Parts: sequence; structure tokens; C-alpha cells
Amino acid sequence: GSGQIYDRMCELVKNNPDVEVHFGPEIAHGDGEIGVKKSGCHGFCEMGPLMRIEPQGILYTKVQLEDCDEIFHRTIEKGDVIRHLLFKQDGIEYKKQEEIPFYKKQTRNVLKNCGHIDAEHISEYISTGGYRALEKVLFEMTPEEVIKEISDSNLRGRGGGGFPTGYKWSQVARQQEKERYVVCNGDEGDPGAFMDRSIMEGDPHKMIEGMMIGAYAVGAKEGYIYVRAEYPLAISRLKIAIAQAEECGLLGDNILGTDFSFHLHINRGAGAFVCGEGSALTASIEGNRGMPRVKPPRTVEQGLFAKPTVLNNVETFANVPMIIMEGAQWFKNIGPENSPGTKAFALTGSVKHTGLIEVPMGTTLREVIYDIGGGIKGDGAFKAVQIGGPSGGCLTDQHLDVSLDFDSLKKMGAMIGSGGLVVMDNHTCMVEVARFFMNFTQNESCGKCVPCREGTKRMLEILERIVAGNGKMEDLDLLEELATTITETALCGLGKSAALPVMSTLKLFRDEYVEHVVDKR
Ligand code: SF4
Repeated sequence: GSGQIYDRMCELVKNNPDVEVHFGPEIAHGDGEIGVKKSGCHGFCEMGPLMRIEPQGILYTKVQLEDCDEIFHRTIEKGDVIRHLLFKQDGIEYKKQEEIPFYKKQTRNVLKNCGHIDAEHISEYISTGGYRALEKVLFEMTPEEVIKEISDSNLRGRGGGGFPTGYKWSQVARQQEKERYVVCNGDEGDPGAFMDRSIMEGDPHKMIEGMMIGAYAVGAKEGYIYVRAEYPLAISRLKIAIAQAEECGLLGDNILGTDFSFHLHINRGAGAFVCGEGSALTASIEGNRGMPRVKPPRTVEQGLFAKPTVLNNVETFANVPMIIMEGAQWFKNIGPENSPGTKAFALTGSVKHTGLIEVPMGTTLREVIYDIGGGIKGDGAFKAVQIGGPSGGCLTDQHLDVSLDFDSLKKMGAMIGSGGLVVMDNHTCMVEVARFFMNFTQNESCGKCVPCREGTKRMLEILERIVAGNGKMEDLDLLEELATTITETALCGLGKSAALPVMSTLKLFRDEYVEHVVDKR
């Protein structure tokens, strides 16, 4: 939709002689005093397509093609605000983007440039201070100092596990083998998750700069970005970003005249969820079937092409330039000590204002759902939220004030995962939710190990017969028994966490399972 509007806006500007006369022909190309800029995602999905008018910061929501003329003639030419395009909540009309509760309650650090810069022009990223962190590490810091800064910041991997990034980098740096790789995991496969996609589409240079800083720190000369094929725009923007960085001497040999060289490649995934797992991902880049392998050796010792490899996800790398520029202490001051920094979440489901949000770690579910998301949609009441996708678990109203951070959620039997938050209201059947996620995991099981290959199939069969009304009480015990076995014996994270949605719904909503079994007898 926004692409169409952009084209239409450009067309309007080009074909409108009055505007040409008024502002000069350069407007047609968007490089004059007034122009149309194609940005990445603003995050407020529910209200899209969005248009931000600079420098006033006015945000127009649900913009249609037929609104373009009015926007040009009234707002651009005369400075009038078009009220029917403004966002309204609880009877209040919001003119400026930053005043809207959805944005006001957020801390957009990683997503700061998304929706504001044109991701297809490196100059836009550079104008926001981009690549200064790279310059700083190349000219002012040793690789050891970079690793220390990242370690001191306690940046934990945003891809799900929450593993300390600096420690991972230090493990790669101390390997005997000198050929090393840096790999970015952009294979965001969780249903309902699109955090990494927005960064790759809206601010690709930020994660590229983070990867380069990582490469400098561990002594890698080659890097790969593994992106799922379902993200064609992200792939296209990354390609443009890499080509422009190469043209500017920011990628390639002897970067900025130093002896640091780094070459970056894009690898398109074929849509297998399991390729988000480290060893499956590196196998896929190598041209092999994407299947996890037994560990050790770990990726930091023998990862891509059996060489020491730093593997982090998009959001983790995107945090790195800010930490270098602002310092580890700045980062640690955001959120709780054990999980500092911010986290991007994809807020979806039965919430009024769905979208992509970024909040300090430690923000509560209540703040996310009610203050940012505006509460539950329609006449429903909050029932639960599935956090962390198919590898995560459920949280209910008893967890509304729990701090959203790696350790607190683990204690609750859930996990942040990559950041998917699917909100469910009281009309949702939790057994059906468990069946949905088990169906997903079973489809995505690579089949290498028996507990996951066979176990998820059996669990799915049981869930299907419960949902169809043919279940028995013994099925609930069988589900628990299978869940424990799969969790304890599966080879990789996909299998180990496959039963989490079932276990957490069985624990929190057992009465619903019982109702299905008893009612339908
Ligand atoms: Fe494959 Fe599942 Fe075993 Fe992982 S746990 S290796 S996805 S079969």
C-alpha cells in the first residue's frame, strides 16, 4: 500500500504544474527542499498506511490514494492539518507522531531510524551518525577493547537464547584458527514475528555496521547475512545497502584506508523454520540441507565452513553501533541489570493497536498491552498472550505485572524468544492455540531425530482428536509424558521447545482441555 502511495505522490508532484511553479522542478525528484521520501516501517501497523510530514512531525494514518491531493494542497502547500487523517484515541486527536500513546510509551533505539530515513540511500544513514561507530573502533579501539565494551554492556542475544554477546565474541577471538566468520541470522520464522524484517527493510546499514564491528573484534574477513526468502524487500534493501557501502569504501578491502577488510554476502533461506537454528543455518549457507547437528563442537569453535563463527541475529547486531557510540554504561542504564537494553516486539492478535514496538527490557506486559497496545479489541477481555512464538509459552492475567526480560520469563515457563507477542482474548480456545503451534512445529521438524520427528506427530494427533471432540482424559497424561520426553531428548532447540505451548496451556488452562474431553464424550 505505501509503495503505491509513494508512486502516486511522485506522480502527483511531477504532473502538477502549480506545484512545480511553486516549489521548482527539483521536487519531482524528491531532492529539493520538498520531496517525497520512501521510508521503512513506522511500526503502527494497525493504522497504516502512514505518512509523516516533516519537519512538523505530523502523522497521518490510514492514508488512501485519494487523500494525496488534499495532503499536498492543504498540508504541504498551506500548512493546514487534515483532522480526519489524524490518529484519535479516547476522544483525543493527536497531531504529532511522538505524542501518540503507542509511540510515547516506547523507547525506540534500535528502531529509531525506521520510518524516518530512506533505507535505499546510505547518505541518509550516514546523516544520522551512521558508520561513526565503525570509524571509532577502526581508529580508536583495539579489537580487545571492542569485545570488552560489548561484554561490559551485557548485551544479550535478541534471537531467543539471551546468550551474552561479548562472551560469544571473546570465544571466537581466542580460537587458534585464524579464518573466522561473522553470520547474521535474519531467518525470522516465528508466526507473528517481524522485528528483524523491519530493521532489514527500514535501517539495513545499522545491522551491517554492527556486523562489521563484530568482524573487526574477532578478526573475521567474511560475513554472511542469512535472510528468509519470504522477505524479498529486505533482501533487495540489503543488496542495495551492501553495494552502496562498497562504493563508499565502507565494505571491501582496506576499509577507510585501514588494514581491516571485510566482505559481506547475502544468503537467501528457503523457508525452513529449523534454519533459524545455528548449525542448520550454517549448513544451509554451505549448500547442504539445513539440519542441526550434535554439539559440541559449538558454532564459536566450528561454525560456518567448520571455522570459528560469530552468529547473532539482526536486532543484536543493530544494538552494537549504539553501544560503541554511547558506551556500555549507557546501555546498562536501560532496563534491568541482568537484561539491559531495549527489546523489539511484534504486538499482534486481539489488541487494539497492533504493530512493531520497542520497549526497555523489564517493561511489564500490562504496559505493553494496555498503554501501548490500547487494550483488548472489541468486546473481549484479556485472556493470554503467547510470547516467543512456537518455542515460547503462555502468560495470563496473573503475569500482567511480570517484568519482560530473559530471566523473569524463564522462571514463568515462557521465553522472550525473538519477540513475538500474540495477544488472545476470552473468545480464544487455548487447546486450539496449542494445536496450532504443534501443527507448525511438526511441519517444520527436520526429521533428523526420533523424539521430535515422531513425538511431535503423536502430540499433534492427540491434540487434533481432543479438538475434534474425540479425546479421552488419559490423553492429557499422554500429552504430558510425550512433552517431557521430547523436551529432554530432542537434538536441537526446535524439538526441545516444541512442547512448550502445550505444557504451558495445560498448566494454565487445564480446565479447557478437560472441558473438551468431558463435553464431547
Ligand atoms: Fe530436527 Fe526436530 Fe531433531 Fe531438531 S529436534 S534435529 S528439528 S528432528
